Amino acid sequence: MDRRILATIKSLEEIGIAEIYGFKEQKSKPDKRKMLHELYETLSKERKCILYEGSSGYVFGDGNPDSPVVFVGEAPGEEEDKQKKPFVGKAGKYLNAKLQEVGMRREDVYITNVVKSRPPGNRKPTREEMLSCLPYLRKEIEIIKPKLIVCLGSTALEGLLGKALPITKYRGQVFEYPYSRNIKVLLTYHPAYVLRNPSADSEFTEDMKKVKALLGIIF
Ligand code: URA
Repeated sequence: MDRRILATIKSLEEIGIAEIYGFKEQKSKPDKRKMLHELYETLSKERKCILYEGSSGYVFGDGNPDSPVVFVGEAPGEEEDKQKKPFVGKAGKYLNAKLQEVGMRREDVYITNVVKSRPPGNRKPTREEMLSCLPYLRKEIEIIKPKLIVCLGSTALEGLLGKALPITKYRGQVFEYPYSRNIKVLLTYHPAYVLRNPSADSEFTEDMKKVKALLGIIF
């Protein structure tokens, strides 16, 4: 093909127009649900992510794999361990209500945790425990390719960015995801913290509105 035509197609590809006009062969959409299921099977088989005695197995991510936003918590709690789904206890109910308040639905987003099984007594996972599970979280994110990751609490941010930042100072702030320049990271409170500290409720609502605004800007 003529060099000038190739150059024009390349620039159309760069701004995402080539596919629309049929210059580029349409790629079939990846089956993200299947890829996530395979990842879950690998996680269960490899057992490299520390699996606590007393927990009843891994709790993997849940929700819409085509979502532009992924919420990341710390680790499953008692109810999550029972139901094998993230954020289904009190903190999850609060999160669902907040999503609804700002016009989002839980079924439209994807929710997961840094650590994939319940730490004894719901204690904070150690750095070693987080490191053992991080490859699976990163892979989940790589499959979903969201535009935005919302860290629910500073443990999630510490896991994803490798730095421990004081939440009261940095909540509401946007960071770059170190593994993809196209993904932004927003830090907010953990829903369980807001339930224990009701005065943080308005800031959490503000952050959820910011999630919507950021998604609006990104698209
Ligand atoms: N807290 C978390 O961090 N994750 C859950 O899934 C539930 C509670």
